[in-house]
Amino acid sequence: MAETRSESRSGGGRGKGAEARRTAHLVESLCAWFEREARDLPWRRRRSGYRALVAETMLQQTQVSRVVERYVEFLRRFPTVRRLAAASEQEVLAAWQGLGYYRRARNLLQAARRIVRDHGGRVPRDAAELRRLPGVGRYTAAAIASIVYGRAEPLVDGNVRRVLARLEARDGGSGSSGGPAASWAWDRAAALVAAAPRPGVLNEAVMELGALVCTPAAPRCPRCPVAAHCRALRQGRQEEIPAPRPPPRRRCEHHHAVVVVRGEKVLLERRGSEGMWSSMWQVPTVEAERPLAGREIVRALAAAVASLEPRGSFEHRTTHRWITFHVFVAAGRLRRGRWCDPAQLAAAPMSNAQRRVLARARGGPDTGA
Ligand code: SF4
Repeated sequence: MAETRSESRSGGGRGKGAEARRTAHLVESLCAWFEREARDLPWRRRRSGYRALVAETMLQQTQVSRVVERYVEFLRRFPTVRRLAAASEQEVLAAWQGLGYYRRARNLLQAARRIVRDHGGRVPRDAAELRRLPGVGRYTAAAIASIVYGRAEPLVDGNVRRVLARLEARDGGSGSSGGPAASWAWDRAAALVAAAPRPGVLNEAVMELGALVCTPAAPRCPRCPVAAHCRALRQGRQEEIPAPRPPPRRRCEHHHAVVVVRGEKVLLERRGSEGMWSSMWQVPTVEAERPLAGREIVRALAAAVASLEPRGSFEHRTTHRWITFHVFVAAGRLRRGRWCDPAQLAAAPMSNAQRRVLARARGGPDTGA
């Protein structure tokens, strides 16, 4: 019996040793690959806590290609955390145009003000401190702490979760951000980070691999630096893991956007301070659960409008909504809003959907942005 226990202990020790060597190899291969293949992205050229906070906030729900354009412009306008903290909400929303999910811009502004007020203008280095800032969650805090300040903080986003699940042939689906699959991924990411001499490089390497090689569909396994360690590849299941998430349930809405024109001026009004697109500018818009008839729209606007000229419709999807925008042009009187000339119109913070409304009303190209 004693011999058996002893064998079992040494067998377990060998297993642990092999797993530790595999983890060390993974870390080494990923970091070496990242150093060779990393994309030249503007937030990688010059690192600082503030720059990382801006980039990570933008990247939360926007594609890298779009963030690349807007990040440089945003930093030109607000080059330091103090400059951002001193800006008005309307200025920041205007600079955020085209990125969507404007709550992020408000949170970023609040975070900048908090950093100036409570941290002497220096972005905290500690992940727990970072998480106290508005809009900074577990992922963003870990990204800043590890990538900029070299702290051994694991991070998990969609790319990381997919790469780790495939490397370990771990079933269980993508899961929700708080489910068991996510919790497993955080534990696995922590094990990799613990073995990494440079945690930030490792974190970026796993994300980059997910973005460039271990893509959701058709992963490029022959080009993968860790193919030799990949259990999903060995089992031929790399395209089945992780199981797809069910599509989000979206509420259907109909927004009737009325472009009222006087000469070269257009009437805009500001949305309320709560809910979607809060505090942004828009043409007078009536929201309903079904398409409305012309007279219902006029009644809802409480306007003396002679006629509504339809200019077609388009679909706009958000995470939780499926909105059909019905576009109209009208001449008439409304006792609300503000008449904006072309320069004011260009500078007003407006959602992409409202920009599409204006383009349709003018008969110009509707880019669908
Ligand atoms: Fe992803 Fe293929 Fe690399 Fe495995 S071998 S990590 S499935 S790209």
